[in-house]
Amino acid sequence: ITVAALRETAAGERRVAITPEVAKKLRGKGLRVLLERGAGAAAGFPDASYTDIEFADAAAVLAQADLFACVLPPDDATWQGLREGALVVGQLRPYGAAARIAALSARKLTSFALELLPRTTRAQAMDVLSSQAAVAGYRAMLIAAEAAPKFFPMLTTAAGTIRPSRVLVIGAGVAGLQAIATARRLGAQIEGYDVRPETREQVESLGAKFLDLGVSAAGSGGYARELSAEERAAQQQALADHLKVVDVIVTTAAVPGRPAPKILTAAMVQGMKPGALIVDLAAEGGGNCELTRPGERVEQGGVVVLGPLNLPAGAPLHASEMYARNVYNFVELLVKDGALVPDFGDELVAKSCVTQAGELRFAG
Ligand code: NAD
Repeated sequence: ITVAALRETAAGERRVAITPEVAKKLRGKGLRVLLERGAGAAAGFPDASYTDIEFADAAAVLAQADLFACVLPPDDATWQGLREGALVVGQLRPYGAAARIAALSARKLTSFALELLPRTTRAQAMDVLSSQAAVAGYRAMLIAAEAAPKFFPMLTTAAGTIRPSRVLVIGAGVAGLQAIATARRLGAQIEGYDVRPETREQVESLGAKFLDLGVSAAGSGGYARELSAEERAAQQQALADHLKVVDVIVTTAAVPGRPAPKILTAAMVQGMKPGALIVDLAAEGGGNCELTRPGERVEQGGVVVLGPLNLPAGAPLHASEMYARNVYNFVELLVKDGALVPDFGDELVAKSCVTQAGELRFAG
């Protein structure tokens, strides 16, 4: 059985799906590992750091792959290079991706989108959303600290006392909690906000204050649900006043399979202090702020809004290490006695499946 990966082709992508550590573990399971030459170089893993595996050019890698692993989906033409019936594992971004799903089907591939895994205890070791969101949350706060015109910590100096920055994190999921932890390490005064009531305790356990706006919207599977128009109005009204004292906002709010909720309106941003900064980690899904332009910097009334994209790619070594371990733990579900035999009776296998031998299995 050949497990294979290419150098990622998405713009700015530096991660790799198979690291030297994971390649070794796959070899230990009796699997052959075949990578495109230079696949891990941008992540900090030159070919020489892999032991006991093979390298080839992209076309040869695809032609021999029984199981193809990726970080992000390659362009749709790439699927043509895989053999019919091959398995694909990675973040396949299945929502709204009709053309990609059609290409996977046409090639009769059996594909698994790791972002569809249920968020159960057993799935934690394969949870790429969590591992990559942690990287994104960490990086978003560092970007905020770097771009802000103020220090984060309090400083007592001969030139006077500097007050700590007031930082608000909106959305206290995996990324938001890591952003809070990072701001805390930098010494800011932090508040966290979320619509899921259970996040209060998580925010407080990181030494931050929970901002209670009186709107509660727990959904299913540990996720939030979309707010109704009235709830959104109540949230915005309560938030608008509070924003006047905030120096930095990092937003991370998301609802699976839906566009990012718009939480910060242009009018709310207008009410903020000049010099205030918003880093919108939800930019990829359209953004939590009305002014966000994905991948760009917007300035209005002295307030700067940043919409950075693909943040995990900016810390590619650790992001790849975590991602590859997630992939390995999932691949373990597919392999028995050296053969690829996905057990569709296992909900982790069934729920992450997008196409099975070309048949559509993804309903979203
Ligand atoms: P996510 O990326 O889907 O959303 C980020 C956060 O935004 C969530 O906390 C959500 O509640 C919040 N949000 C959504 N709409 C909002 C709004 N209008 N206003 C304010 N906040 C809003 O979520 P995530 O970080 O991937 O994780 C969500 C949940 O899944 C958490 O409860 C987490 O603990 C849980 N989880 C469980 C497992 C597991 O058990 N295997 C693994 C990871 C995460």
